[in-house]
Amino acid sequence: LQEVLVRAADLTAQRLEEKNMQFQVEFAKEVVVEGDANRLIQIFTNLIFNAIMYSFEETTVTIRVFEKDKWGVVEIIDEGIGIKKSEIPRVFERFYRVDRARSRDSGGTGLGLAIVKHLVEAHHGKIQVESEVGKGTTMRVMLPLHTP
Ligand code: ATP
Ligand code: MG
Repeated sequence: LQEVLVRAADLTAQRLEEKNMQFQVEFAKEVVVEGDANRLIQIFTNLIFNAIMYSFEETTVTIRVFEKDKWGVVEIIDEGIGIKKSEIPRVFERFYRVDRARSRDSGGTGLGLAIVKHLVEAHHGKIQVESEVGKGTTMRVMLPLHTP
């Protein structure tokens, strides 16, 4: 997972710098999961882009990796605008965007999270959201650990 996340962080670094934001990385030990590296890069690039897009300037995006039970867990934590409780289940719907007026000029399509959820489930994984409006969002991806 660490290799995949370094790649995803590289792909999003320019956008991060443009907003004077920074990454904080919390990797304890190496975590190895079952998966297609390119698809995993796609998952985390999408989540990190969202974390940057829906955050205020000069805030931090934390990337945390750890093992829990049979899962390799990645948390992408932002200090951004957050998502209302009632909207949380809807953000995974195709073309759904919380604030259409505001997000119109940010140029997205509302497909990112629908694709992420599909890819996570294709890996027999799970995705969870915790969010508080005005405080930030945690996107947690759980993927089956590689068992040698
Ligand atoms: P794109 O298809 O380019 O990714 P998008 O970012 O609008 O466009 P999704 O990534 O699917 O689409 O996200 C759907 C909606 O969920 C976003 O429009 C936004 O309103 C909300 N959202 C997603 N991630 C976050 C986040 N980290 N913080 C706050 N809101 C978020
Ligand atoms: Mg997106």
